[in-house]
Amino acid sequence: MNRPRIVVVGSLNMDLVVEAGRAPRMGETVLGDRIHFIPGGKGANQAVAAARLGAQTVMIGAVGQDAFGEQLVAALQKDGVVTSAVKAVDGVPTGVASILLAEGDNSIVVVPGANSCCLPEDVDRNEPFIIQADLVLLQLESPLETVIHAAKLAKHHGKKVILNPAPAQALPMELLCNVDYITPNRTELSILTGMGAEGEQLEQAMENLLELGIENVITTLGAEGSAFMRSGERLQRVSAYKVPVVDTTGAGDAFNAGLAFAIASNRALPEAISFASKVSALAVTKLGAQAGMPTLEEVEKFSF
Ligand code: ADP
Repeated sequence: MNRPRIVVVGSLNMDLVVEAGRAPRMGETVLGDRIHFIPGGKGANQAVAAARLGAQTVMIGAVGQDAFGEQLVAALQKDGVVTSAVKAVDGVPTGVASILLAEGDNSIVVVPGANSCCLPEDVDRNEPFIIQADLVLLQLESPLETVIHAAKLAKHHGKKVILNPAPAQALPMELLCNVDYITPNRTELSILTGMGAEGEQLEQAMENLLELGIENVITTLGAEGSAFMRSGERLQRVSAYKVPVVDTTGAGDAFNAGLAFAIASNRALPEAISFASKVSALAVTKLGAQAGMPTLEEVEKFSF
């Protein structure tokens, strides 16, 4: 089988996960119980997931010249992601997500750091990877001008483009006109369209994105599964697989990587979404975003 070729343009973050009995009030210090250093960032998570499925995967991004940066690049390499297009920037820290888990809830501060240094010129420098790719996979944790440029360049070379619009923000037409597949979750769909996305309103909100010229809109709905619409068609729903849930962090990243892998392998959309649902169902049965991403063998072997 020919391995599909995927380029991910996106973020790399070190997640500092602190567990504490309770959250401190402003100005207060509390003693925590545990700290974990976990490689993350939507771009890196999706790159690892695509590589585990067997895609030839290239990551375009930026880290700082520090220990976290080295660890994040090493984590990608361990799964076979090509990292020569991840630049190490001098004098800027690697992106960090500081995550506090307390009282059954979480609060998160993300400092993008070097991710802000991933610029359109970095995409241009790595144009040969895009020329060789079947598909380019994008999120919104990198500078918007870089995401816009990557989508434009990918389309210029006739490549398929998936945009995972997370975290959600208003998007310009010059980006949307170069996107073939957009994959918001329910919250992101609502922010993107300024409409409710519950019940009957879901189809209307998705229709709204189709009217902007994107041909395929896929909304992920957590444990409810997902819904998709193509221009000129009605909404279709795909159920989630019933699995013992351990950690839903990175479910969306697993879904996007699964979708990218299947579409880059020329599977039709309904089949690609079914495959993405399997990948994300398996991912939520394991702890950690990158650590929980399944291999192709695990996806094919698992009986749902
Ligand atoms: P995000 O992580 O971006 O918020 P979702 O929560 O919508 O994304 O999850 C993405 C996909 O992961 C869903 O469409 C579904 O296929 C799968 N998924 C999420 N939660 C579960 C679950 N509890 N059981 C099975 N599959 C799940």
